[in-house]
Amino acid sequence: MKDTASNPIPAFSILGAPGCGKGTQAKIIQERLGYYHVSSGDIFRNAIARQDPAALQVQDLMTRGELVPDEVIKDMVENELKNIIADHPEIHGIILDGFPRSIGQAEMLDEIAQDLNLCFTGMVNLDVPEPILIDRLLARGAGAEQRPDDNEEVIRERMKVYYRKTHPLIEHFSKRNQLVNVDGLGSMEEVYNRLMPVIEELERHPLITR
Ligand code: AMP
Repeated sequence: MKDTASNPIPAFSILGAPGCGKGTQAKIIQERLGYYHVSSGDIFRNAIARQDPAALQVQDLMTRGELVPDEVIKDMVENELKNIIADHPEIHGIILDGFPRSIGQAEMLDEIAQDLNLCFTGMVNLDVPEPILIDRLLARGAGAEQRPDDNEEVIRERMKVYYRKTHPLIEHFSKRNQLVNVDGLGSMEEVYNRLMPVIEELERHPLITR
């Protein structure tokens, strides 16, 4: 872990509904801007693959499109972040994809930031209208990158869960002036070209101070 006397590592979360393209954008941001991409969904799927008991216990929630409990995902994300920081001491920044996903998790961010010496610069919301999201997810379900939760019934459930539990984060962070909305429509490059200046601006002038 970085020693606490060193400069905090800039970090931000990319928010958005399933299918908004945040995973794809996070990968490009890792390649081009040196922000390490940390996906809570990937962390959870990897934990299941290595038969982690805490993950196996709540695996059926994921299969149904539900969120897993806040404490379970927080511990997994925090451990993964700890390992990444230890393995990459010169890391430029961290992009969190899929966390926080509930108000409870938003309230855990401060603790994570303190424990790991991160500076959360802000929340970036990738905005895409719902009918387009559903079409994209159905196309992904039919394609090569199939996931067990990309069939139509589970997609509709994930969307409901998103609007019930995650969408309120937009208001939560907006009220605190900690959120930037980015239009998620268009090609991968078009969206990236909108995101990049936002990320650089957040790094220069963080919206979150503690
Ligand atoms: P994702 O790949 O981000 O769509 O995540 C896939 C699934 O993993 C979700 O539908 C949840 O079951 C679980 N998951 C991932 N991130 C979180 C989170 N932050 N909170 C709760 N559950 C999560």
